[in-house]
Amino acid sequence: MPGFELIGKEEQEAINEIFENSNGVLYRYGFDERRNQIYRVKEFEKKIAEKVNVDYSLFVNTGTAAEKLALIGLGVKPGDEVITQSFTFIATVEAILELGAIPVIAEIDKSLNMDPEDLKTKITSRTKAIIPVHMAGVPARMDEIMAIAKLHNIPVLEDSAQALGGTYKGKALGTIADAGIYSTDFGKAITTGEGGVLVTNNPQLHKLATEYSDHGHENNPNFPRGEDTRSTWGFNFKISEIAGAIGLAQLDKLDYIINKQREHKKYLKEHLSGIQGIEFRDIPDPQGDAADTLVFFVDNQELAKRIAVELREHGLGTKNLPDAINWHFAGTWTQIFHDFDDYAGKDLEMVWPKSTNLLRRAIALPVMVTTTMDELDHQVNVVREVLMKTL
Ligand SMILES: *Cc1c(COP(=O)(O)O)cnc(C)c1O
Repeated sequence: MPGFELIGKEEQEAINEIFENSNGVLYRYGFDERRNQIYRVKEFEKKIAEKVNVDYSLFVNTGTAAEKLALIGLGVKPGDEVITQSFTFIATVEAILELGAIPVIAEIDKSLNMDPEDLKTKITSRTKAIIPVHMAGVPARMDEIMAIAKLHNIPVLEDSAQALGGTYKGKALGTIADAGIYSTDFGKAITTGEGGVLVTNNPQLHKLATEYSDHGHENNPNFPRGEDTRSTWGFNFKISEIAGAIGLAQLDKLDYIINKQREHKKYLKEHLSGIQGIEFRDIPDPQGDAADTLVFFVDNQELAKRIAVELREHGLGTKNLPDAINWHFAGTWTQIFHDFDDYAGKDLEMVWPKSTNLLRRAIALPVMVTTTMDELDHQVNVVREVLMKTL
């Protein structure tokens, strides 16, 4: 997830330009003359919408905020049920909780994304939205998920926080369902430090989310801001022009980032395949993989732990699995689920046994953009050596 590998001169120049050309106006709205009609956040929204081929986009201060705004736009209310998957960053569930809605967790399959068969069993008359997550840039099984959602007339939000640049059957991840979100935090494909983007083809959803993100301001061009019109209340999720400027520079690098990741992941996978005792994660559309992580399963949790320790001793980290599983697996979130009657006091890993079984046996290797061939070979050699010794 490496926008941070390529942040530098271009981004710095983009910030300087704000001071040189628009008098240091860092606020996304208003000050039209003072800023010489230069609006970086707006430009970034336009550019990213074009990039993923969608009608509307909204850039806000975090991906988590974008996710909450998307759910607001979809009409999720307190007490509604929202289904997402067991393997995701905790933010997905926090966005649901923020609305007073109830998170319902579906199991994952060997793609490590939402298991459509389990999704079917989780739908009730109270289900108001479904959030598949394209974890680590790998597309979820969108055809199956969309068909199930359609059958029950439930809107779908794609959590594509980790998947900007990925596709599913030729369409950008995040643009297949009713709405999608991307994150531009410091670990994602492109970064603006913090930031999140909501994309949709639905004008009402976009309007409500935009107004909500700015205290309900309609930004009505016929009135000064102090006399602005409104039809909803909201909150402040606005992002500054600095992030807009950085985002524009980063977006120019996205194709390069994805291409490099794909090249490096292919190399790693080719050189690790054929090792007895490992099985790679399923990729529902291999051509669409944003390719920032290579995941494989071993036979059991003890082996996975031992491999992670050995890799660390050789100077190689893993990415989230197993090292940060506590932030990415619902089965560890007692601080959330023990507040709900259905889960109170339960061993959550036993609530989602299929997910537990997969995630506890998984090793995720980071795929970086600026890695040299020598470094890639070193990574291959170390992983091979550790696996040969351990398995
Ligand atoms: C990063 C992330 C988010 C939230 O994005 P932030 O910009 O960090 O708030 C949401 N969902 C997933 C799957 C993520 O990885």
